[in-house]
Amino acid sequence: MPGYDIVLRGGRIIDASSSLDMIGDVGISDGLVAYAGPSLPDRGRLDIDCTGLLVLPGLIDMHTHSCPVYPRRPDALPAFDGEAFCLRCGVTTAVDAGTCGIDDFPSFYKDTMLTSRVRLFAFLNIARGGMLRMASEQEPDEMLVDDAVLMAREYRDVVVGFKSAHYRVGIPFDDIHTPWLSIDRTAEAGERASLPVMIDMQPNGRERTYRDFIEHHLRPGDIHTHVYAQQFDFLDEAGHVMDYMFAARERGIRFDLGHGRRSFWFRKCIPSLEDGFMPDTISTDIYSANVLAPVQDMLNVMSKLLSAGMPLHDVIAAVTVNPAAVIGHRELGTLSIGSAADVAVLSLSEGDYGFEDGGRASMRGRYRFGCEMTLRDGQVVFDRNARAAVDWRNAPSDYWIAPSVIGGDS
Ligand SMILES: [Zn+2]
Repeated sequence: MPGYDIVLRGGRIIDASSSLDMIGDVGISDGLVAYAGPSLPDRGRLDIDCTGLLVLPGLIDMHTHSCPVYPRRPDALPAFDGEAFCLRCGVTTAVDAGTCGIDDFPSFYKDTMLTSRVRLFAFLNIARGGMLRMASEQEPDEMLVDDAVLMAREYRDVVVGFKSAHYRVGIPFDDIHTPWLSIDRTAEAGERASLPVMIDMQPNGRERTYRDFIEHHLRPGDIHTHVYAQQFDFLDEAGHVMDYMFAARERGIRFDLGHGRRSFWFRKCIPSLEDGFMPDTISTDIYSANVLAPVQDMLNVMSKLLSAGMPLHDVIAAVTVNPAAVIGHRELGTLSIGSAADVAVLSLSEGDYGFEDGGRASMRGRYRFGCEMTLRDGQVVFDRNARAAVDWRNAPSDYWIAPSVIGGDS
């Protein structure tokens, strides 16, 4: 009598939450992880061969723009509905990084979050119009701390922090538009709601430097996203990471990759990795204007980091257990017994591959991840090579889908 709904058999299981790395089986029952360890003697009701593949917790993309708005607005960031896109890349949890402020968040919640098969969370933009009315991010009158804190409390199940972005990029400051206003209001909201903040900032002359930002404007648990972008001068003249970055990490500041269209440079990333300064979290910053190039998808970004020298276990931690901790949802990003069975089954190929960054530079690399299968809450939602289906010669004459596959009976 099979004890599990699904057994993922014979893959290399890597779970950073328990330091598990072994060839073995994962058993799933009632949508939960019921077993992860050495080979099981009994077959599952659905028994899936994962030989030669990595079996990981479902990936978490901590910086996306997953809030589609129709009709499209000319002054909006072109966010898009990432449901199918994420799931076919092994991403089972995505965090919208400030696409919405308080004006649009309720409709994002109702129209997208509640129906998406990707788990969606959000950093709420401190500017009421968010990135759906981008002028809003420049105006102090639009940065309403009280209202943002109230909304974060009302939607506490899905709001995981606050976001500031794009404020006074290359635009002079004045008496009203002071250098740190957006960042400090965001931090104030974070302080009052006991939530982290994610900051997209650009140095702007001597009045707003990166070092000042890192040393004086973030609290432990706060996140600097786009860490390997061109504009951050944390490498010294010899190309080494300066001490203040390591000190910030010690203090609990979190560094997110946030690839985006222009925000990831090999010229910053590779010297940093050589000095042992890795991103805490690997994320895409995906939206429709960067999905073809240079981001492509989470698997491509992970492949870049692995090929650039970041160890495999660190790459996996940066898309599972680390982002889960940063957003305060440690129940995710793990294959521990009893956790939701969100699983990414990935291939890892070796060859000669090319990767492009956000500054039109390329790097040759040896590794490329692919996604073979994705499970969300114990249901197969993506199955590249039809591993969960029955060979057509043995298939029943009627339409048939295994109960644990999306579209099935249960
Ligand atoms: Zn972004």
